[in-house]
Amino acid sequence: MITSFGDAPKLNLAPSMQYFSTNRRSPEATFEQAVLRGQPDDKGLYFPASIPKLTDEFFQRLHARAEDEIAFDVIRPYIGGSIPDEKLFEICRETVNFPFPLIRITDDISALELFHGPTLAFKDVGARFMSRCLRHFSAERDGKTIVIVATSGDTGGAVANGFHDVEGIEVIILYPKDRVSKVQELQLTTLGGNVTTLELHSSFDECQAIAKQALADTELQKQAFVTSANSINVARWLPQQFYYFFALKEWQDEPPVIAVPSGNFGNLASGVLANMSGLPVSHFIAACNANRVVPDFFETGDYKPKSSVATLSNAMDVGDPSNFVRVLEIFGRDNSELKRRMSATSVSDEQTAETMRYVHSNYGYVLDPHGAVAYSALSDYLDDHTAARGIILETAHPVKFDSVSGIIGADTAMPASIKDLLTKQKQVTEMEPNYEAVREVILEKAK
Ligand SMILES: *Cc1c(COP(=O)(O)O)cnc(C)c1O
Repeated sequence: MITSFGDAPKLNLAPSMQYFSTNRRSPEATFEQAVLRGQPDDKGLYFPASIPKLTDEFFQRLHARAEDEIAFDVIRPYIGGSIPDEKLFEICRETVNFPFPLIRITDDISALELFHGPTLAFKDVGARFMSRCLRHFSAERDGKTIVIVATSGDTGGAVANGFHDVEGIEVIILYPKDRVSKVQELQLTTLGGNVTTLELHSSFDECQAIAKQALADTELQKQAFVTSANSINVARWLPQQFYYFFALKEWQDEPPVIAVPSGNFGNLASGVLANMSGLPVSHFIAACNANRVVPDFFETGDYKPKSSVATLSNAMDVGDPSNFVRVLEIFGRDNSELKRRMSATSVSDEQTAETMRYVHSNYGYVLDPHGAVAYSALSDYLDDHTAARGIILETAHPVKFDSVSGIIGADTAMPASIKDLLTKQKQVTEMEPNYEAVREVILEKAK
């Protein structure tokens, strides 16, 4: 039962939020246009024309409010009226309908656990929000919306789950045979219903190329509305701010340092955006693995993309982080301001494993490899800033990664949802990486 829309009318609200392209050659777009287009034609990223400021009253009442109310107040200015308030509140409620506990590991370090959603990773938040926005925007159009996703593991599961059973939408997932973990494969292949999974005898890159071909196929687009659920979409990026507010709702101290395990930098960019809206955070740490393009940029001032190298924290194996430009944009492209407000650290696989063992044996807490990168970076920072305390984002459940039990020398407790998953039947169509065959499937599903 919705009793109020929170503080919304008191917000300093832009009447209709516009989004510009970070490359500044494409025209501005409304939230709806930005969601449906995904990326501007000039290959920049959509960015809000102004960053809303939340009121003092909002922050004074933060501790007392429900998660869905907080989410609604945070996102509403960004929607710029593209979705009616009542509908938006329902979308927020469905997006954050699982717990986000802040767990104290030591006196100085707490973990915000973002892995209690359906696919046990933080990407559930963005995927659930985006699917419901897309559903809303597609409702007036005849015919189905086809969402095509190529995945190397985690993203596909979150997107498939986020769109599962959402009316009017058909999801087609392409994944490379024998290249995803057992849990990931089950998450991709056992949903059924409006989710069709194609197991291709190919690499991830070939899956990606086929998805891109479908998105660029103008003949196909005349017969079916095909879109992607790419991580740069504003409807996946912006709702990631929510859980930074949830962390501060539980926090009873001076503004924390927050360490974010970073790959494509969408998560970190959303945290910095929340900070610009008034969320009290003393410092951000971009915690990277051996893929150290951003830590190198902080050291040298040169941004040099590289090919990615494989690490234990494989969801962060990114050599040219697509969302980093949004971080630069938030700081008005002022690098001295950037360095004052955040730092970037690279953590090796040895340090990551050592951190997992240390935290498990001393505090009885099981970190996943991504959270461990953040823990290591934060504890180094706190060694030099002894008065500070901080939070790491635990971005995925340790059970998703086969490496964990070997590293800590113990089994990780299996959540009920995984036990349930192991009993399900894989439903998949195996095929050669042939665009025409995939196109047939799309046209069939569009009917
Ligand atoms: C995607 C992912 C990350 C990296 O998030 P970005 O927003 O790409 O920086 C970190 N940890 C896990 C578990 C992920 O799945």
